[in-house]
Amino acid sequence: MARIRLQNIAHSYVGDTGNLDDFALKKLDLTWDDGGAYALLGPSGCGKSTLLNIISGLLYPTRGKVYFDDREVTTLPTEERNTAQVFQFPVVYDTMTVFDNLAFPLKNRGVDGKEIRRRVTELAEMLDLQNDLKRKAQGLTADVKQKISLGRGLIRKDVNVILFDEPLTVIDPQLKWELRSQLKKLHKQFDFTMIYVTHDQTEALTFADEVVVMYEGEVVQVGTPEELFNRPNHTFVGYFIGSPGMNILPCTVRGDRAVVGKHEIPLGRIYKESTGETKLELGVRPEFLTLSTSSDQGLPVSIGRIDDIGHLRVAQVSLDGLPLSVVVGENEILSGQSGHLVFDTPHANIYADGHLQRGEAV
Ligand code: ADP
Ligand code: MG
Repeated sequence: MARIRLQNIAHSYVGDTGNLDDFALKKLDLTWDDGGAYALLGPSGCGKSTLLNIISGLLYPTRGKVYFDDREVTTLPTEERNTAQVFQFPVVYDTMTVFDNLAFPLKNRGVDGKEIRRRVTELAEMLDLQNDLKRKAQGLTADVKQKISLGRGLIRKDVNVILFDEPLTVIDPQLKWELRSQLKKLHKQFDFTMIYVTHDQTEALTFADEVVVMYEGEVVQVGTPEELFNRPNHTFVGYFIGSPGMNILPCTVRGDRAVVGKHEIPLGRIYKESTGETKLELGVRPEFLTLSTSSDQGLPVSIGRIDDIGHLRVAQVSLDGLPLSVVVGENEILSGQSGHLVFDTPHANIYADGHLQRGEAV
């Protein structure tokens, strides 16, 4: 295992044109601690696979350096980096048996037969492949093939890092859940450094101790699931994490108040007023709004649809035409009524061009 450091990494598939728009990765400074369980979360096309491939050596970055502990590996080929990578779609040798597929990375490194059998048996049990070990991989379903790929990624204990690139895409939902818990258990057991790429927030939040959120070639926040929920550093994080996501309203700022249309919302902190081009927004999660039909405190809203989302009830309300989602719990809010909306001040965040503003204590 190793601590992995990315220093000023940027990558363009069309060479160093100097035009930031050509860069799939804009500028990254990140350290992955030895033994950490990380998720790399972001929408399709934001640069997740590019980043993984730079770590494994399938790609050399246009700019910046990669270190494994204190050793620079920026242009070292994959074989010399000692990493394991599991891709979105199965990579298996069709003519080999399942056993031989799993054993391959160990055989390649001259591990002795007894140890290989022990390890293959252990992993086959974990992945529920015991009964398929003697079968040829050819003709197996995509699910089973992907489990073999996962097994191959996990079979060596001496790798610097295991990289998973949306590995559960072809797996059916029930099995997905099981495999995810298995991976988590395995991480606890062996302390592998794992980087798990996904565009699915549930997958990211259940797997990882720390989540790296990417958006348009940049890392917008690194944090625990709680941190991402409680204090999104970027409107994208607020919107992407949580369901429904954070409400984001265009606003201006006057001292310690946000001004939305003709309404003022107390913020508890003082913010810089917008200068010229800067776009200011007020972000508040549906969980941090209180809707009441009995009190006349707060902002007047009309109440639209109410949805049951798992154990939550979420009301869609309109503040002079601006839509917001509000968690209303089991109280007596009904659709079609008018009500009053109160913002939980410490959780009402101000964003300038998408980025969270700290403000100053009043
Ligand atoms: P993700 O894995 O988050 O979906 P990728 O890292 O695959 O994103 O892609 C990031 C950006 O780089 C996308 O705009 C994609 O179209 C582009 N890209 C990816 N691979 C290549 C490639 N081999 N050649 C040119 N552009 C690429
Ligand atoms: Mg990808």
